[in-house]
Amino acid sequence: MILVSGGAGYIGSHTVLALRERGRNVLVLDDLSEGHEEALLGAPLARGSMLDRDFVMKTFEENDIAAVFHFAARCYVGESVQDPGKYYNANVNGTLNLLDAMAATGVNKFVLSSTCATYGEPESMPIVEEMPQKPVNPYGATKLIDEWMLKDFHRAHGIESVALRYFNAAGADPEGRLGEDHDPETHLIPLVIDAVMGKRDKITVFGNDYDTPDGTCIRDYIHIVDLAEAHILALEAMEQDPGNIGCRAYNLGNQAGTSVLEVIETVAEIAGKPVPYEIGERRPGDPPRLVGSSAKIGRELGWKPRFGDIKTIVETAWKWHQTHPRGFASS
Ligand code: UDP
Repeated sequence: MILVSGGAGYIGSHTVLALRERGRNVLVLDDLSEGHEEALLGAPLARGSMLDRDFVMKTFEENDIAAVFHFAARCYVGESVQDPGKYYNANVNGTLNLLDAMAATGVNKFVLSSTCATYGEPESMPIVEEMPQKPVNPYGATKLIDEWMLKDFHRAHGIESVALRYFNAAGADPEGRLGEDHDPETHLIPLVIDAVMGKRDKITVFGNDYDTPDGTCIRDYIHIVDLAEAHILALEAMEQDPGNIGCRAYNLGNQAGTSVLEVIETVAEIAGKPVPYEIGERRPGDPPRLVGSSAKIGRELGWKPRFGDIKTIVETAWKWHQTHPRGFASS
């Protein structure tokens, strides 16, 4: 079976669904501190914390685990600047507990949720994997440490791994079964949708004085289903070619930069009404522009985005928010 840490969360739950649709056996490891039981859609759950070493070890000893997908982590840039300890604890210690349990029980396939935040503020775009990784916030730093640990655990214990450096995950299951439900929500697209639906007064744009065409930050949004697919391709590559994957890292973006104001315009177009917004201060830790090239994963694993354009991404998120105005509580 595939152990999916954080499988009740946003990206994890979409990946669990994709695995099960391919007939894979899955065990979710999640403490439900941020994830939702409803998001499991009936997948089996080992409920507990990644930081509980005994629980993690026991889960490996009691189950026939062939590979690990590791999503359980803290993932907010702004919060990581304010509370770095929380990030180093969850994202470094949590990953270490998993890797130690894998080494102890002989599990040797691992897919890591990494991030474009490991690059910091590269001098040229699009970002390719060979560029230096110099994170500018604790979130990015913790994920870079995870990537280092993977190299060392490969060398010492033969654990093969693929680190997927996501750009901005967005959108929802096109069939409307799953979507994004964070409390509090901090991500741009759901916040803009909430603003246009009247669930919040307005959205604050974090700075419009960046060196970008409209002055607002540019990000590369990638559909959650395309992300899930990349995890499965990574797993299949490790299964088909054992010993040859080693320790790899791939970017996952669409090579399309979309500014905050362009996201607001796209939501307004889909909703058929203007989005109430104001311009606010810059958010500490935010690089002006992050756009990634996914050419390497396309070339090496055959990954191709199916929902690449921002309009489709926002449309699927919009559909989820219309049918689930209170998130999973509406299920
Ligand atoms: N953003 C914004 N207002 C908000 C939330 C986000 O202007 O209320 C901006 C943020 O500064 C960044 C982009 O939207 O440039 C995407 O932010 P998000 O938090 O969704 O993802 P991140 O890029 O931090 O992973």
